[in-house]
Amino acid sequence: MLSRISPFFLLSCRTMSTVGTRKLEGKVAVITASTDGIGYAIADRLAKDGAKIMISSRKQVNVDRAVDTLRTEHGNEAVAGIVCHVGKDEDRKNLISEAISRFGQLHILVSNAAVNPTFGPTLETPEAAWDKIFEVNVKSAAMIAKEAYPHLKKTSGNIVFVSSIGGYEPFNFLGPYSVSKTALFGLTKVLADELAPDNIRVNCLAPGVIKTRFSETLWKNDMIANEALKKISLNRFGEPADCAGAVSFMVSDDACYMTGETVVIGGGMKSRL
Ligand code: NAP
Repeated sequence: MLSRISPFFLLSCRTMSTVGTRKLEGKVAVITASTDGIGYAIADRLAKDGAKIMISSRKQVNVDRAVDTLRTEHGNEAVAGIVCHVGKDEDRKNLISEAISRFGQLHILVSNAAVNPTFGPTLETPEAAWDKIFEVNVKSAAMIAKEAYPHLKKTSGNIVFVSSIGGYEPFNFLGPYSVSKTALFGLTKVLADELAPDNIRVNCLAPGVIKTRFSETLWKNDMIANEALKKISLNRFGEPADCAGAVSFMVSDDACYMTGETVVIGGGMKSRL
């Protein structure tokens, strides 16, 4: 089975893609949870494509580190960062207002933050864990969109929610997290429809298993990793950069007639028909 996969397909998109076309020149993007993992890779890619980026996460030390690295690559003028725990109203407000005061306008919001504090049978999940998962993964995504909305309206901007392939095919022992990710598909549809009169597009990314800290229980242990790989046609876990090109496309004018859609970046892992 494996022999039919050419080594070409085993390359990550970091190696294969043609980045740096500057198709986002003049755009301003806010990306939540973007000091590491998928959010960081998205921020890096949007900056490569010409956008000015406002990155954020909960810890100042992480923000400082990521800002430094991204500035080295993209220049001081193109990159700013601020602490934002997406579950905190004041932080969400600061994030958007800082982006406006720094860059003057806003065209793109990537809502990427999520938590998963629990692992086990769904009905054994404590109520507090349900609350945390839905507060951060779903409610905060809607609230940050609400904060960005008046600014996106002025620029005919767009939003991308980062969901998960688990929203289609629930991950074992990650029931509430998977349900929260299904809810983001719904939020994408609802807002795509409601914000279309303002010329704001709303789309969604559903990554498969991407090698980050968040998913390390799936890929760090060889036995578990080999089981997980059986479900992935391309026979490798994704890299954060593999997700970034799809987001760059969705937020660009190349996707100007696309709204309410979810793009799966899962290496062929089962998702939907
Ligand atoms: P990650 O590598 O663990 O990165 C998490 C990032 O989020 C860090 O920058 C972290 O920085 C920040 N963060 C965590 N909680 C936050 C909060 N409450 N508010 C603001 N920032 C927060 O995670 P990832 O794998 O890239 O996941 C990113 C998104 O992709 C999530 O929505 C996740 O559900 C989704 N996803 C991931 C996978 C996967 O296999 N990795 C698959 C499907 C979907 P601080 O610690 O400084 O806050």
